[in-house]
Amino acid sequence: MLKTNCDPHADFDVVVIGGGPAGATAGTILAQHGRKTLVVERAAFPRFHIGESLMPETYWVFERLGMLEKLRRSTFVRKLSVQFVSASGRESAPFYFDERDPRECSQTWQVLRSEFDRMMLENAAEHGAVVWQPCNVVDVIEQAPPLGSGRLPAITGVVVQKEDGSTVRVGARVVVDATGTNGMLSRRFDLRQADPALRKASVFAHYKGAWRDPNPRDTGATLVMQIENQAGWFWYIPLPDDIVSIGIVGDIDYLIKNRGKPEQILAEEIARCPFLRPRLEKAERVSPVHVLSDFSYNSKACAGDGWVLVGDAFTFLDPMYSSGVFFALKSAELAADAIHEALAAGDASAARLGVWGDPFYAGVQAIRKLVYAFYTPDFSFGKFTRMHPEFKDALVRLLIGDVLKRDVDGIFEPMSESVRIPAEIRLSPPPDASG
Ligand SMILES: Cc1cc2nc3c(=O)[nH]c(=O)nc-3n(C[C@H](O)[C@H](O)[C@H](O)COP(=O)(O)OP(=O)(O)OC[C@H]3O[C@@H](n4cnc5c(N)ncnc54)[C@H](O)[C@@H]3O)c2cc1C
Repeated sequence: MLKTNCDPHADFDVVVIGGGPAGATAGTILAQHGRKTLVVERAAFPRFHIGESLMPETYWVFERLGMLEKLRRSTFVRKLSVQFVSASGRESAPFYFDERDPRECSQTWQVLRSEFDRMMLENAAEHGAVVWQPCNVVDVIEQAPPLGSGRLPAITGVVVQKEDGSTVRVGARVVVDATGTNGMLSRRFDLRQADPALRKASVFAHYKGAWRDPNPRDTGATLVMQIENQAGWFWYIPLPDDIVSIGIVGDIDYLIKNRGKPEQILAEEIARCPFLRPRLEKAERVSPVHVLSDFSYNSKACAGDGWVLVGDAFTFLDPMYSSGVFFALKSAELAADAIHEALAAGDASAARLGVWGDPFYAGVQAIRKLVYAFYTPDFSFGKFTRMHPEFKDALVRLLIGDVLKRDVDGIFEPMSESVRIPAEIRLSPPPDASG
């Protein structure tokens, strides 16, 4: 747990609400820029959080954050590939990330989030961000927009509730919402829109003593396994201390409506997955069974006057490709640079703070298309790359998270022959663009 030390007279360049991966990244980079930054996290760490498998492209953000050496020294499991297994047990060849680039950046880690999030937030403090934890942001300080401007309110600070229940108002030139799925500002301003075609739920837990691939190259691989009736898929993520994270994702109506307790659902679904069952024969469950639902959404805008949304507070996509932490880190990195430049220019307007939104969101859209491909009956990446070997490299680039350059988009034309790719969900113009 980091220091609470709330100073009621302190005002900051930037206040970041939430100290998860997105908040810690924004806090670190803003502090590196020399900005007086406060990160407020309401939970005492360590605490459980889902989101354990990283994408290799997180590497470059970790490098910037000064996290690489800490990750190398950690006990987190090295992840070199991802492999898909069909309902009939047919295994795709593993997609090894280092096939196209043998450098360390093609590997990544399977992390215990309780430990990873603590390391990230401590790293932000080491770089000079002030961290208040556990402290809850209970409100933001709004400034009404000019009448008839069509703009959303500006934000000029936050109200923080300390552990003893007292509250303190803290002024900021910019407020970053990194509150995860809580989405404090997107809910306040009604910006969140769910993806109606991805109404999924997930049931998950940690197991000890489950099967590990003896081949060192495969032992840290993420396995993605379809269940018998194709109504869902399991992740299999090897973690430190002989723990494996197991979780199923399926339609809400199938997975959690009119079903029994979470423990019962998980046991029934494991029994339906012929590839998973034998791997758990000698394992015991060592965590509660968690349930989450309706987690795919975006926000109509990523910024307003004096405020920015990052990480899950901005957008989240089905966990199929383990893209959540990467998008949290990347959005926070881009937003932190935009905030620094906006403050330098003395202009914390929505247009200036949200300048990174469209190019970033194009990358989210690319992964979203892959998610739709995965959920298309009879579509398989193995089949696709056998028919279109010229796109295997683009597919691996997407799987590692190399999604912000638009030269990978050629893959979606042949894919659209068998996959109904939905219309793009676009970001609204920044609220002041029309005002
Ligand atoms: C079923 C499932 C499986 C997933 N699997 C993966 C995976 O394998 N790999 C992957 O990369 N991603 C995965 N994700 C996504 C991943 O969990 C998130 O994308 C990631 O945690 C986002 O980071 P964040 O910092 O935006 O939010 P969070 O990690 O949720 O952090 C937000 C923080 O804000 C704090 N907070 C909230 N409100 C307040 C407040 N008012 N005041 C102060 N603090 C506040 C919270 O306590 C929390 O610590 C998965 C998601 C789901 C639903």
